[in-house]
Amino acid sequence: MRLGRIASPDGVAFVSIEGDGDERIAKEIAEHPFGTPTFTGRSWPLADVRLLAPILASKVICIGKNYAAHVAEMGGEAPEDPVIFLKPNTSIIGPNAAIVLPPNSNNVHYEGELAVVIGRPCKDVPAAKALDVVLGYTVANDVTARDHQRHDGQWTRGKSYDTFCPLGPWIETQLDPSDLEITTELDGEVKQHSRTSLLLHDIPKIIEWISAVMTLLPGDVILTGTPEGVGPIVAGQTVSVTIEGIGTLSNPAAPKKVQ
Ligand code: MG
Repeated sequence: MRLGRIASPDGVAFVSIEGDGDERIAKEIAEHPFGTPTFTGRSWPLADVRLLAPILASKVICIGKNYAAHVAEMGGEAPEDPVIFLKPNTSIIGPNAAIVLPPNSNNVHYEGELAVVIGRPCKDVPAAKALDVVLGYTVANDVTARDHQRHDGQWTRGKSYDTFCPLGPWIETQLDPSDLEITTELDGEVKQHSRTSLLLHDIPKIIEWISAVMTLLPGDVILTGTPEGVGPIVAGQTVSVTIEGIGTLSNPAAPKKVQ
């Protein structure tokens, strides 16, 4: 199933997206998208509604340095264990929403990533059972003020600005995430191109590692790390991340409006 969240003339709703191309229909889900959804009977052509971030997360947990070639370009060593950090849920935006560039940063980077969406409350999940707690997979951009990340010596400020976690366009629930092509384009030029089979720590290991620390709640999102080819995005440019079997997440970058 392809799960999304939309703004329609009738309000905000979780939906199942069915069909392909211009024929796509958004069918309204009653209540929430976890478990077996029930439907209200209302639907809209997808072209007539606006896609929002596909899920509401209590937290976004990210893996750093999880592709060897990205570790190399950043000039570090590949960590033996997963390195985790958080982005606040206030950083989440949906497809086509603007990444707002902080005026005090001159080096904001895109990072295309496969995102895991958690489907049930869980703690201490063994790797062998990790995929049981997954609702599905979506596309993420771990936008980063690289200058702030380097200046501070830790990552919270550089990773946490409002709009720094684009998610979407929807969640694919039936997908094997172990070997998917991932591509990031900046104004149509390919900047990142890799496969999720190159993750140093795979998704079951990541879920085991994170859930040993914190309780995961339905809708929580895990960003699995970015491949090599990160770089700056400036106002007026559009970054598009495409993952095989899911789709494309596009977001323009815009300067912060002066109040
Ligand atoms: Mg990242």
